[in-house]
Amino acid sequence: MRRSYLRAAIILGCLAIAVIVPVVFSGLLERQAIAQAQRTLTAYAERIIARAEAQLDQTGGRLSRFNSADLMACDSSVRRRLSELKFEIPAISGIAIINGEGHQVCILDAHGRDTAILTRIPSRMEPVDLSLLRDTASGHVMLGMVYDDLIYITFQRDSFLIDLLPEEWRIASHMALRLSDRTAIERLPRRAVETELTGPDMRVTRVSERYPFKLEITVPTALVLDAFAGIKAIVIAMITGLVLAFLALALALVRSRVKGDAEIERGMAARTFLPYYQPVISLEEGRLDGCEVLLRRRLPEGGVETPGRLIDRAEGNGQIVPLTNYLMRRVIEDLEEHYATRPHLTIAFNLCALHFHSDQIVRDVKAAFGKSRIRYSQLIFEVTERYPLGDLTTAKSVVGKLQALGCRVAIDDAGTGHGGLAVMQRLGLDIIKIDRVFVDAIDADTRQAPIVDKLLEMARGLRMSVIAEGVETVDQLRYLRQRGAGLAQGYLFAPPLPASSYRQLVGAMTPIAMNTDSVDRDAA
Ligand code: C2E
Ligand code: CA
Ligand code: CA
Repeated sequence: MRRSYLRAAIILGCLAIAVIVPVVFSGLLERQAIAQAQRTLTAYAERIIARAEAQLDQTGGRLSRFNSADLMACDSSVRRRLSELKFEIPAISGIAIINGEGHQVCILDAHGRDTAILTRIPSRMEPVDLSLLRDTASGHVMLGMVYDDLIYITFQRDSFLIDLLPEEWRIASHMALRLSDRTAIERLPRRAVETELTGPDMRVTRVSERYPFKLEITVPTALVLDAFAGIKAIVIAMITGLVLAFLALALALVRSRVKGDAEIERGMAARTFLPYYQPVISLEEGRLDGCEVLLRRRLPEGGVETPGRLIDRAEGNGQIVPLTNYLMRRVIEDLEEHYATRPHLTIAFNLCALHFHSDQIVRDVKAAFGKSRIRYSQLIFEVTERYPLGDLTTAKSVVGKLQALGCRVAIDDAGTGHGGLAVMQRLGLDIIKIDRVFVDAIDADTRQAPIVDKLLEMARGLRMSVIAEGVETVDQLRYLRQRGAGLAQGYLFAPPLPASSYRQLVGAMTPIAMNTDSVDRDAA
């Protein structure tokens, strides 16, 4: 149930990511594209405005060099200079001088046309005004300049607005140059174009700071986004691919976990998991004290293996609970007969932190051993110091309940963790198992093994028994016995054994005592 929820949650999560990430990303990309286009359009608008301003500046600047008396005279030298001006500034189409009564006294026009002023708007560039003029003959409206109420300039149609926009925008963009009263002077495109693009436009407006005109550019937003469609498609495809790959990976992971879980279940159902028994020896009397149960897996091709990472996985996903129950029942099958008649022999089971999170283990122990002929007093439960136990209050209550049944509780791998003395004291444990790394450090020349000594001293102080793990040499054995370690296990005595071998050993060693002197003699 929990597994199928997990899988559904992962799939839903990944699908949500697969949808949300590209949507959010494409939103960001579009905002970025629009901001970028806005900057580009603004730059074009500024260039067009600057160009128009420059033409007007130039015209005004040249006109300022004439004096009014000369102009009124309109003699041949004035006409020549005005012609030169027209020649130099190609945008100028006509020039006329106006006298005090408003009559045109001197006209230089390509076609000698007459014009009428429609609007006149003062600019900041005194004495220049801008005006809108209509050609009375053709009816065309064009931009004009009135200089000091004395000179009228008309400009060529369409000489201010130039299309600087990039090709891909030009097909559907619009530009309008307007006087500040909004009347349009020039437009681009000059003729209306049909476009299939609908939807909102991007609009940029730039106002001249010196002359009373402004420029508006509009480009359909869809056109701007079109340019990004290619990159967007690639990026979205990449993100979607990545998310899907992640999804596949997550699913594979879940599947392998599920497979691992099924492996443990199958191992129990097919009884390929089995307990091995490593003898624990009393150093004082040299007799067999009991054993530690270690999980093994029978291989299809024969032989057994240590389950390795399988235990970590079982501890991680909670399967360690049924697995421990399974081991307890198999141990009863293997040893009930031999142990019922030898009540001093012990069996140690490895538990993990999870077992100390609730009373479940107490109920499980009762369910397994309550009706068996193996006594609670023969049971030892080991909890490792390598990993923290979590909530110590609950752990203490579980320990207390196991002890109340008559079982004993040991701290395994003592010295390797951080809990140390404080945890042992708080939990009220019965046995310290000294980790083999500290025993390993003992050799023939060892006068002092500080950690071993320290643990032995602690055990004495707390009135706990000691089991030294991983004893492989006689030197180690001698050191431990001299320092008062009560019990030991290790390859020196025996490796973990299959049930039949352990039963033989039980038969052979109990009640026959092992003389420790003989160990010394054998080694010599
Ligand atoms: P552990 O509880 O510290 O078990 C002792 C380990 O040391 C065993 O390894 C044993 O085979 C090995 N060993 C015994 N004597 C010697 C020796 O003289 N020299 C050396 N070098 N090694 C020795 P194993 O069986 O591979 O188990 C490894 C760990 O797996 C155990 O460490 C224990 O933490 C865990 N484990 C094994 N069975 C169970 C189980 O049924 N339940 C739980 N929760 N954990 C288990
Ligand atoms: Ca152990
Ligand atoms: Ca250990």
